[in-house]
Amino acid sequence: MATTAVRVALRVRPLNAKEQAANYQECITFATDEPRIFLGSDRAFTFDHIFKPNSTQEDVYNDTVVPLVDRYIEGQTGSGKTYSMGTGIDNTLDQNNGRDEGIVHRFAHGLFDALEKSKTKGEQKEDPFQVYVSFLELYHEDLNDLLEPHRDSGETHPSIREALDGSIYWAGVREERVYNAKELLGLLRQGAVYRATGSTDVNAASSRSHAVFSVLLKQQLAVDNNKEDNNTAPIDNLAIVKRIASKFHFVDLAGSERLKRTIGDRQKEGISINTGLLALGNVISALGDETRKGTHVPYRDSKLTRLLQDSLGGNSHTLMLACVSPADTDYMKSLNTLKYAGRAR
Ligand code: ADP
Ligand code: MG
Repeated sequence: MATTAVRVALRVRPLNAKEQAANYQECITFATDEPRIFLGSDRAFTFDHIFKPNSTQEDVYNDTVVPLVDRYIEGQTGSGKTYSMGTGIDNTLDQNNGRDEGIVHRFAHGLFDALEKSKTKGEQKEDPFQVYVSFLELYHEDLNDLLEPHRDSGETHPSIREALDGSIYWAGVREERVYNAKELLGLLRQGAVYRATGSTDVNAASSRSHAVFSVLLKQQLAVDNNKEDNNTAPIDNLAIVKRIASKFHFVDLAGSERLKRTIGDRQKEGISINTGLLALGNVISALGDETRKGTHVPYRDSKLTRLLQDSLGGNSHTLMLACVSPADTDYMKSLNTLKYAGRAR
């Protein structure tokens, strides 16, 4: 794995049945010897990794989540972001013999399998790990708690606060403890259903909001003091416990279509989404630019980058998966997404 802060992968979905019936042609082709695609005949884009239309959910999981920590998914509406992440209502359940399970599903099973294995190694009396989840939606500039059933009844929204040391924390966010993958996925589904039912137009609303599903892992590791430090006499039976906390954010970003001429509320939505995506692109390119090391990273330019500030840069790892449709009718949208993702890289 390269040491760059952010890696950018691209996923091209297959033509769907409707597109095939309408006889749409594919306008994306793939280089054979490098991770490079061609849009039409004259545009070329290179990524860290490319998933072709025939790649499976398992391929994507293995090549993205397994080696990295944070995930960012970007692309135009209907291109496969939610499908890949598994945060939609139609693929948050165990179904289809597991073929369609998205990234979060596979992560949940992988995480608890790994924790169970590590548990049997030691013989701590205390439960050596705790897993908590939270699920937020950023819609316009409002944060909604998808695990909190009263979000629409005038209750306070979660907020982003800054601690004295400059670190960021989220206030008023429900963190629910889970004991296994099934419970984790139950909350994922509950939030996904809630996200969809909060609006009159299911697809429109979920494609205009960003969703952040977070998994917090707190661990107590017993440190073997006989091995740690030879200068001091080992104290028998005194376990030194090291506490560590790590966070995994799965971010299903809003669609990136260009601002269309719309009126009223819709126009506002278009603008605030673009602000978030634009700021995210700027933050990522500032982090990835070696010549700008130590210079200003514009986290404050949007609520999205503010929310994720502590997880972008520093010692965190990020993978952005851009998703595009292969159809010639989506050429302009795909060009837009490819330019965005190409720049982030
Ligand atoms: P987005 O979140 O980018 O707006 P979706 O993830 O909702 O798009 O995908 C749109 C539709 O295409 C969904 O019905 C989804 O199941 C399907 N789809 C997306 N990507 C794939 C893929 N790689 N293979 C099969 N079906 C896909
Ligand atoms: Mg979506």
